[in-house]
Amino acid sequence: MNSFTPVIRLFFFLFISLPFTPDVPGADSPATEKLRKQAEQFPEKVVKVAEGVYTAVGYSVSNVSMIVGDEGVIIIDTGLDMPGAAKIAKQFQKITDKPVKAIIYTHSHGDHTGGTMAFIRKKRPQIWARSNFGSESKPWDDGGITFHRVRGARQGGFKLPPEQRVNNGIAPAQYPKRGGEVFGSAKDTSPSHTFDGQKKQIQVAGVTLDLIAAPGETNDGLCVWFPEKKVVFAGDTFYRSFPNLYAIRGTPNRDVRLWAESLTAMTKLNARSLVPGHTLPVIGENDVKQVLVDYRDAVQFVHDKTVEGINKGLTPDQLVEYVKLPEHLAKKDYLQPFYGKVEFGVRTVFNFYLGWFDGNPTNLL
Ligand SMILES: [Zn+2]
Repeated sequence: MNSFTPVIRLFFFLFISLPFTPDVPGADSPATEKLRKQAEQFPEKVVKVAEGVYTAVGYSVSNVSMIVGDEGVIIIDTGLDMPGAAKIAKQFQKITDKPVKAIIYTHSHGDHTGGTMAFIRKKRPQIWARSNFGSESKPWDDGGITFHRVRGARQGGFKLPPEQRVNNGIAPAQYPKRGGEVFGSAKDTSPSHTFDGQKKQIQVAGVTLDLIAAPGETNDGLCVWFPEKKVVFAGDTFYRSFPNLYAIRGTPNRDVRLWAESLTAMTKLNARSLVPGHTLPVIGENDVKQVLVDYRDAVQFVHDKTVEGINKGLTPDQLVEYVKLPEHLAKKDYLQPFYGKVEFGVRTVFNFYLGWFDGNPTNLL
């Protein structure tokens, strides 16, 4: 037993399915039941989200998309690792054998960038990202902070046996291996093309795309807007779960206010298809609008209500009682706590603005 045991327990109950065997507590809990239903998101399939636009779901931990242009294809995100990405590349090649002209990273998390080498054949394509790509994780990449790997493995439930993992809430349960040929080297797969500011229009493979800054899980987040087919690729600014405003593995502070702004910008696109970073796409203009507005409202509510409570002098422990999602949002299937949780968001908003001290002088020393 160590000091992380409560964290692990919490995670087991909230995010990892509990075992199928009835003698294990929680095996038939409502939360486990919901996770089993969420598994409908993860069978391996390539979803046609619009004419010439495909998203591979369930092969890797994250979604990988392909836009087919006249002169080649564009890949958006590349999955967690080479084995998953290679399966996706094979599926995509059944649709077209046109060369990969560009790869776009929606953000710098490894589960969206680890499979890049599977999409690079002879010629290295353009690799696009925002100019602050990876800036938040630099202290980790430089080797200063290493313990996040341990916490990340705990969050992912990697030490659990397969029979105790249904899925990770927004992703199929996989057991990534480090080292060897599993990941491409960062040198080969780092962005070759970046942009500053809010927006960059690119023309590649005969396709025009807008890359739009969309901070959320990371400060380097972007969404890809394909106006011709009215498809928006949200990266991890949207997936079918209450958003992970704070990751229990430990992350730099996520700016909840900016996350809501990113979602507002996406609602204004009037997209017909919404491709999340994880889980199944949403197709149909009305559904996309509803989902994005609800999602934005939920994030904005957590931010604003927490600030309201802060201004009444409430401490973090009081705030988590004070901030409850309105019923019309709390009941939505895409706002269930499969990955993020309202309470974690409340605490992260407090921490973002006021830091670790709860304001009660008896707790100061
Ligand atoms: Zn992700």
